[in-house]
Amino acid sequence: MTQEVNTLFTNALILTMDENFTQYFPGAVATKGDSIVAVGYEDEIKKEYSAQETIDCNGKILMPGLINAHTHVPMTLLRGLADDLRLDVWLMGYMMPVEREFVSPEFVRLGTLLACAEQIRSGVTTFNDMYYYEEHVAQAAADAGMRAVCGQTVMKFPAPDAASYEDSLQMAREFIQKWKDHPLIVPAVSPHAPYTCTAEILRATAELAKEFDVPLHTHLAETAFEVENMRNEHGIPVIPYVKKQGLFEAKVIAAHCVHVDTGEIRTMMHAHAGIAHNPSSNLKLASGFAPVVKMLETGLNVGIGTDGPASNNDLDMFEEVRLAAFIAKAVTNDPTSLPAPWALLMATRLGAQALHIGHLTGSVEVGKRADLILVDISPLHNSPSFKRAVDNAYAQIVYAGKSTDVSDVMVNGRWLMREHQLLTLKEDELLAQAAEIAKKIDTFLIEREQSVLSKLIALGGSLEQESFEVQVKVKITEADPIIHALSQPEIDVIRKRHYREHDVYFFFEDPSQGRLRYREDDFIDDVKGTVTNVRTRLTLIGLKREGKFQDQVLLSRSRYIAPASQSLRFYREYFKPKSEIAIEKDRQRWLITYKDTEFFVNLDEMKEPKLGYYLEIKSRTWSRKDAEHKAQLASELLSVLDAASGEKVTEDYIDIVSEV
Ligand SMILES: [Zn+2]
Repeated sequence: MTQEVNTLFTNALILTMDENFTQYFPGAVATKGDSIVAVGYEDEIKKEYSAQETIDCNGKILMPGLINAHTHVPMTLLRGLADDLRLDVWLMGYMMPVEREFVSPEFVRLGTLLACAEQIRSGVTTFNDMYYYEEHVAQAAADAGMRAVCGQTVMKFPAPDAASYEDSLQMAREFIQKWKDHPLIVPAVSPHAPYTCTAEILRATAELAKEFDVPLHTHLAETAFEVENMRNEHGIPVIPYVKKQGLFEAKVIAAHCVHVDTGEIRTMMHAHAGIAHNPSSNLKLASGFAPVVKMLETGLNVGIGTDGPASNNDLDMFEEVRLAAFIAKAVTNDPTSLPAPWALLMATRLGAQALHIGHLTGSVEVGKRADLILVDISPLHNSPSFKRAVDNAYAQIVYAGKSTDVSDVMVNGRWLMREHQLLTLKEDELLAQAAEIAKKIDTFLIEREQSVLSKLIALGGSLEQESFEVQVKVKITEADPIIHALSQPEIDVIRKRHYREHDVYFFFEDPSQGRLRYREDDFIDDVKGTVTNVRTRLTLIGLKREGKFQDQVLLSRSRYIAPASQSLRFYREYFKPKSEIAIEKDRQRWLITYKDTEFFVNLDEMKEPKLGYYLEIKSRTWSRKDAEHKAQLASELLSVLDAASGEKVTEDYIDIVSEV
């Protein structure tokens, strides 16, 4: 009497990816409902089971579906949008501004469905995601029939789906509550990274993950820059820092971990953290080489991920597995490092364990969910086949297999692809919709790239509006006479500051764009002679609109000011100026009143290039009438200083930048 099952796979080369790397050939697998009920040699299984559907695998490899351990699936819609850029320019300059404009529940759903089609075609049955509107990623994945760990993003910046971190944390809570018992979806919370989150966010998300016993998915120690910043700010590297915030009390899935040392690897091992290694993304963004072999030797569960399709640029796990093996060999200078069976193990059982769902999937074992794929190893690029060594089949998959060799995919006992035909998704419709969105994004970016101002606005952050500026700037021979002249009775000094200014001016192909100034102000304590505070600002200085007023006074030009939260290098790569000029000066600045009107009086010593002393009288206003009045007073004030100091301060208005 045989037992009735739903599907019986026969005549397969089975790579179980279990603890002993057990293989069966010719092998058979029986599935019933959502689970695997039998695995073994064909003759034995056939004796015990009869099935509604019997599949002759024709010598193909039958193995567990691949686990994509780290990705951002909706970013299929941003694939190829901006490449060959550094991580910060790519992320803050392009991805985040476009996401703020375009990401919506519909965008997320379409992007996810496209990603599911691509992943199913390449033999992926489970993916671990992090994005916005994650509920819609979860719904689309479930509709496509895929298994997924879905992490709702939480970070300190306003996100496309939440104005504040409290909002996204609340969304994460509701999302987890709603999806907690879904057969395909494991909800999770995703604090984006230590550098995009506060300590408070890290602690709150860890608490949430613990409360519901769900994974916490984050990016850790991706770049040397990140680790260096963490050391500068907190005196410790990334891993000890997040440990201090209680992150490892949760079931952590840490993407990247490129820059971690032996002690940090041990910390993560003790915390049972899962690691997602992302070879393509780390190569493309030149992030470095993760110590994968050391992590595996320590016993960490290291999976392999594609990362988002905007930084890879595909979701092809066959390519990732091969790269993981190749990189490990090159980095350790040892071709025996990370052999094919282990590389494939990372993409299957170890990956599932890294996602904390090793009890559900990742190997072909009785009791696990029926997440299975068939891979044809007879195509031209993968022929002939040898049977001499036990590892031959793994080498065929890892070193010569292609995602297009995957012919059939089953997830949770349900067919998603049969003989290369997708059963749950309509590729043509999805592609047409994607092309529509791409057109809109193109238009948006083309418009934005046309003006320095709109590129500045796209970076977000507060931007001060256009204002009128009254400005007198003249060359002087000495500073002291002017300082004495400021004690004239008609001038009231309110306060004095002293700082050193480092300015870099960016010039553009089209001069009507104005020029962009990156300014670092180092405030100097005159008593101690030390730098007490540093401030950086970006100012877009428009062309002179009103020209000169009585020869010496510049009446107006547009100025937009934004805080400079990124490095000078970032702005250089983002704005791509045609040329630049660096200026360094020592500035004494007085805030004074003259005839009941406030002015700034700046006394600048130009240090680099050495141009001597300049006197500047300045005031900003938002009304034209007021500007004219102030321009008159500024002119008078200049005459007062001129008379009192004996300096010849009657030259025309000087533009130092054009002098340089
Ligand atoms: Zn990522």
